[in-house]
Amino acid sequence: MLAAAVSWRMEREPKVTTQGPHSSSHPSFVDDILRANARFAASEAARELPGQASYRGAIVLCMDARIDPIRVLGLPPGTAHIIRNAGGRMAEALRSIAISQQVMGTREVALVHHTDCGMATFTNDDLRRRLHEELGADATGSDFLAFSGLEESVREDLGVYRASAIVRQDIPVRGFIYDISTGRLREVFA
Ligand SMILES: [Zn+2]
Repeated sequence: MLAAAVSWRMEREPKVTTQGPHSSSHPSFVDDILRANARFAASEAARELPGQASYRGAIVLCMDARIDPIRVLGLPPGTAHIIRNAGGRMAEALRSIAISQQVMGTREVALVHHTDCGMATFTNDDLRRRLHEELGADATGSDFLAFSGLEESVREDLGVYRASAIVRQDIPVRGFIYDISTGRLREVFA
């Protein structure tokens, strides 16, 4: 329902709000993307419909905004499921991978963690404390999957994949570290 409501809105003039905490002195991020979308929808590019998807694999990748997987990994539209979350953690990606494999038929998985990742800058206890202080939340039982060692985190996530009953075990699953400073991928062997 939400998606339908949003697309209904987007087909019409984007309603740009300037109220609340994001006043004109602090342009809202969402207002900016609505304006960009209006420009896109009015352009020729919006009429170039993508061809039939032919998925070749699924990639689990950190949500770090500095990494543009389309460019870095050479992925034309329709070729890959790119599953992103904080850290590129496998535990959070299994649901999407199961759907990618069972519904869309992907038969390879690449896991990518990266240097200079924000996940190494906090601990579970740090985040639990912040959530308690800022939101009054009790996150005692929550694991935010922070990590400090990159190779260890990749190996741990390959193990998480191998231990899951809902993803295929008869296909290649490989883990990598992406170096933000060189743009290079390096494989981590389990
Ligand atoms: Zn990251």
